[in-house]
Amino acid sequence: MKLRQETALTFDDVLLMPQRSSIRSRHAVDTSTQFTRHIRLGVPVVSSNMDTVTESAMAIAMARTGGIGVLHRFMTIERQADEVSRVKRAEGYVVEHPYTLQDTATVRQAKEALIEHAIGGLLIVDAAGTLVGLVSTRDLIFEALDDLAVTNVMTPREKLVTVQEGTSLEDARAVLRMHRLEKLPVLDAQGGLSGLITAQDIVKLELWPNATKDERGRLRVAAALGTKREDIERAAACVNAGVDALVIDIAHGHSDSVIEMTRALKQYFPKVDVVAGNVASAAGVRDLAEAGADAVKVGVGAGSICITRIVTGFGVPQLMAVDECAQAGQRLGVPIIADGGIRTSGDITKALAVGASTVMLGSLLAGTDEAPGASVVRNGRRFRVVRGMASLTANIDRREVDLKREVDPEEWERVVPEGVEAMVPARGPVRDMLYQLVGGYRSGLSYAGAANIQELWANAEFVRITSAGKSESSAHDVSVS
Ligand code: 5GP
Repeated sequence: MKLRQETALTFDDVLLMPQRSSIRSRHAVDTSTQFTRHIRLGVPVVSSNMDTVTESAMAIAMARTGGIGVLHRFMTIERQADEVSRVKRAEGYVVEHPYTLQDTATVRQAKEALIEHAIGGLLIVDAAGTLVGLVSTRDLIFEALDDLAVTNVMTPREKLVTVQEGTSLEDARAVLRMHRLEKLPVLDAQGGLSGLITAQDIVKLELWPNATKDERGRLRVAAALGTKREDIERAAACVNAGVDALVIDIAHGHSDSVIEMTRALKQYFPKVDVVAGNVASAAGVRDLAEAGADAVKVGVGAGSICITRIVTGFGVPQLMAVDECAQAGQRLGVPIIADGGIRTSGDITKALAVGASTVMLGSLLAGTDEAPGASVVRNGRRFRVVRGMASLTANIDRREVDLKREVDPEEWERVVPEGVEAMVPARGPVRDMLYQLVGGYRSGLSYAGAANIQELWANAEFVRITSAGKSESSAHDVSVS
């Protein structure tokens, strides 16, 4: 039997040794880190590419708080690209390519368009694409005549205040203030429509000073994809919509198909960072890094909703996997994302201390308000559903999207699930959750005597604990109220 000699440890097997600290406040630490080679985050947290965790609402909340979200891939290409653009449009002081509606449209169509795009105003254009007016929720809300032409209720072009392309944030703010406006169309030198500035976006810019943004002030977002031929098309649609990173999402990522996909994505989209995974060995990191990966996602069988280790016998306890992979990643200059098994802020600090640059969270975030799907009430308490992407129902739903028809009941029996469906308590807004998690990590940095993640890597010293040490670690011998 070929048997590795070291004991494979995970989060609960160890604690970090307190180090002498010159950090005087937990606010005096720097929580920033690399998500990929080229994308920096204010906080080291990434939301998982699961269909019960990350769609645009979660990705927007994550980026506003300084992390990033990875949009899941279990939707049509068109919808995923649309989710990317929802994030890219959520902030930034100029919306490029704002939504428009033809001047032949009715009030009903305008109302539907506002709901479909979840926005408060639409620019009305003629057949040539020239701006003829602007209609906002206020114009439509009390309009009972749904068949009326939208041109009857819009503010016409001659009454609109507009600005020229290149107007600075300060000037735009002054114009909005002077005229008490909500929306300011931006025109190019020829008078054509080039963008839209909204008062709401400017307010948001000030509300979220640590947001993860691209060079144009838009929130950053990543999108997951697979390794099929159509995934190149998926990648192209997401890149066109402005995605910042593509994440190859395969359970066994140390495989020829992921290596080839990594190479292909780097070749077709050289300006977009590629994250590849999941792996759990140094060899996996090396092969994906050599193929061009800009970050590697680590974790096989660690996820809360995952049963891969039971079903297949494969996996590596997560702390050891991250340790081995991070050593390889640091040699190769590739950031490591520790994906799966994180239950507390203490686990986050341990995963980062052992060498990861960020952590990916699934079920911890699935209970927050921004996760997709409805909540359910059981015994008077509110819960949300979380499911493994290799669970039975996720497999069936995916096949139904692929086949564009319902899956026959006999086919259900042919699925070999490697994940489960579960419920997690509803946990309120993601911002509050991240405040607690990042707050714990900040304290962790100060216990390590570390002002930033590099110092944490250098100072971290782990001790192995026994089950007695583990029970001493949580509240004990008291009844917790
Ligand atoms: P959590 O934070 O919930 O412990 O772990 C989330 C991670 O579990 C995801 O980011 C993903 O890597 C992994 N995962 C999600 N669904 C499944 C599944 O059905 N099977 C397995 N093996 N892993 C899953």
